[in-house]
Amino acid sequence: MWGFGVYLMHLADYLSRRKYNKQKMKTCDVCSQKFDSLEEMEKHRRDSHPNVPPREASA
Ligand SMILES: [Zn+2]
Repeated sequence: MWGFGVYLMHLADYLSRRKYNKQKMKTCDVCSQKFDSLEEMEKHRRDSHPNVPPREASA
């Protein structure tokens, strides 16, 4: 039974790493869609949200 617990620990660790990696992706601040690069995100933003002014990157 302990084997299953170890499996769950590894699974949780794997999922947390995946989540961490995803945080490095660019996220659209309008619809929260994620993109591999800043260029893709900006292209999506122009195409999908042309009426939303870009938010100032103060953070
Ligand atoms: Zn968007």
